[in-house]
Formats: sequence, structure tokens, C-alpha cells
Amino acid sequence: MDAFEYTQLPSRVVFGYGTLARVADEMRLIGCGRAFVLSDAHHVKGATAKLLQVLGDRAVGMSSDAAMHTPVEVTERVLERVSNASPDCLVSLGGGSTTGLSKALALRTGLPQIAIPTTYAGSEATTILGQTEQGRKTTLRSIKVLPRVIVYDVELTLGMPAGLSVVSGVNAMAHALEALYAKDGNPVISLLAEQGIAALARALPLIAADTQHREARSDALFGAWACGNCLGTVGMALHHKLCHTLGGSFDLPHAETHAVILPHVAAFNTDAAPTALARAAHALGVDHAGSGLFDLIFNLGVPTSLKEIGMAESDLDKAAEIATSAPYWNPRPVDRHNIRALLDDAYHGRRPSQ
Ligand code: NAD
Repeated sequence: MDAFEYTQLPSRVVFGYGTLARVADEMRLIGCGRAFVLSDAHHVKGATAKLLQVLGDRAVGMSSDAAMHTPVEVTERVLERVSNASPDCLVSLGGGSTTGLSKALALRTGLPQIAIPTTYAGSEATTILGQTEQGRKTTLRSIKVLPRVIVYDVELTLGMPAGLSVVSGVNAMAHALEALYAKDGNPVISLLAEQGIAALARALPLIAADTQHREARSDALFGAWACGNCLGTVGMALHHKLCHTLGGSFDLPHAETHAVILPHVAAFNTDAAPTALARAAHALGVDHAGSGLFDLIFNLGVPTSLKEIGMAESDLDKAAEIATSAPYWNPRPVDRHNIRALLDDAYHGRRPSQ
């Protein structure tokens, strides 16, 4: 065994079907009795109404204002309502946007959080908070934003459309892939990464064919937690850097960009991190991680080329330049030339050979 360091994040997980009914008990367990409930417009009439019923008069306020990328204006508006309601905890129900609002409020108030995620974003398992102010996104890491309890209720994910499910799931797999070769990787997270990749690779094709497939939904939600843990615990590398550049500088859709780039990054790093990529391939049940991910994503009907998602070929040089302008760690050293070649493959949607 190689030397390693590992800090386990202190979060309790309750996983199952119908666990929404247990949220009041979970509040009691952490010594709380007054919840401010956070949600989004989609859930307000369904799952959130059910949650409010479960909480009864333990719910002292509620906001369904969560928005993509956690705009600071929204947080500040909701913060005022939170202060007026004097809760002793935050309970959030929704996707990564709702979890983000809860984390932003926890940062400002110190209130403990119970997160009830409804997508595979995985934010609930990380100490990361991304916020936007006047169109600029900033990211911070703080233990203050980590939910104390995560309640995973598989029932809440059955209504997630196939399209959102598969792109959200592929995004999650990207965290696990990069965890396998992370500079600060460790054996615990590598095991979770393998399990997360395997669970999602098994589940996503079944969900794409039948969104009500209960066993696949359960596997995928577990996979999301496992992959979220990877993102929350170890550092990411080329894939996340490249997607950040493409999304930020060329306004490409976040989730689809991850899906296009992931197979190419896996192939790019294969010779430099052979053990990690072999573990990823094994988890996927294929010979090579890059081509295996490409086939999985293609068969899920998700775009496999930058061309399809609106990138201009004339911007590839600039993208390679931006992505290599500041140094960062990756198992295979990056330079303008090799990143330009990777982007060319991704632009044309070529199937990687390994
Ligand atoms: P989201 O929460 O915005 O949800 C996307 C859409 O799906 C919304 O319209 C929402 O109402 C709807 N939705 C959510 N759950 C649903 C369900 N079960 N059924 C039907 N519709 C549902 O987006 P997301 O993809 O969950 O998360 C993306 C956000 O999370 C981004 O802002 C991203 O930056 C952030 N994120 C943060 C971290 C972190 O560690 N900080 C990690 C991953 C993602």
C-alpha cells in the first residue's frame, strides 16, 4: 500500500425508499426543532408539500427560490426571510441548485443542514460552494457548508426525466474517474469511485429505457453519493479544468460539456495513470475506459461532440490556450499541443482508441 492521507467528511447518510417520512426524526437526532425549508419551483407542489406535511409545525418558513449557480442576490433575499423565521436548521429538497442555496445560507448563518437531493449532482456530499455575483462565478471550500445529514429517498428521483438523469449521472462519473488518479487520492475514495462508476454504468441505460426502474434508480442514487464523495474529498484534474474553461469562456452547456469531454480525458490519461484507468475500465465492464465511456454516453443518446453542443471550430486554439495558461496537476502533463489535439477529437466526436 502506498502512503496516503484521508480526512473523512462528517456527514450522516440515510438511504432508502420513502425516507422522506423520517426527516422529522433526523431533525430530532441533531437536536433541532425549527426548520426553514428550501426547494425549487418544480418540487413545490409535490415532494416539498409532502415534506411540509411530515414536518408539521416544525417547519417555520419556506422558500422555493433556488436558482442555477446560486446567485448571491437570491441568497441574500432568502437570508432575510430565514433571519425573520429564527429556525435552528435548514432542510433542503431539490437538485444541486437547491442544495447550493442551502449551503450558501449555512455559510452565512452557521445553521446545520439536512439535504434531500433529487438529482445526481452530488453537491450534498461536498464542502464546495459555487456562487455567482453579477455573472461571475466563485468557488469556495468550507466545512461550514457540508450538510450534517443527507436523506436519500429513491422515490423522489423516479420523476426525474431521462435526459436530466443521464447527463446528471455522467457528470457524477467524471468526479469518480478523476478521483481514481487524484494527486491526493486514497484507497477509501478509490473504492467508492469504482463503486460509483459501476453503479451508474449499470443504472443509466436502464433508466434511459424506463425512468421508473426502481432498482436502477436506487443504484444511480447510491452512485451519485459515492461520486459526490469523491469530488468532496480529493482534488480534481484535467477533466474539471477543461470543462470549466469551455463552460466559462465559450458558454457551452455545463452537463453536456462534461459528457463530451470525459471519454477523451480518460483516453488522454491512460498511459500516465494505467492502474487508475484500468480500475475505471473494470468498473465500467469494458477493456478501455475512454472508448467504454464514449460508447456508454453515445448509447444513452447524449451528445458526443463539441460541434453538436455549439462550440465553433475556430475557438479550439483559444480554448487550448486558456486551458493551459495556468499550471495544474494532471497525471499526464498538459501543454497547448496535446490539449489542442484532445479538443480536436472532442470537437469531431471521434471515438477514443483506449
Ligand atoms: P438543478 O438543481 O438546477 O436541477 C435541474 C432542473 O431539474 C431544475 O429545473 C429542477 O427543478 C429539476 N429537478 C430536480 N430534481 C428533479 C426531479 N427529481 N424530477 C424532475 N425534475 C427535477 O440542477 P442539478 O443538475 O441538480 O445541479 C446543478 C447545480 O449544482 C449547478 O449549479 C452546479 O454548479 C451545482 N453543483 C455543485 C456541486 C458542489 O459540490 N458544490 C456539485 C455538483 C453540482
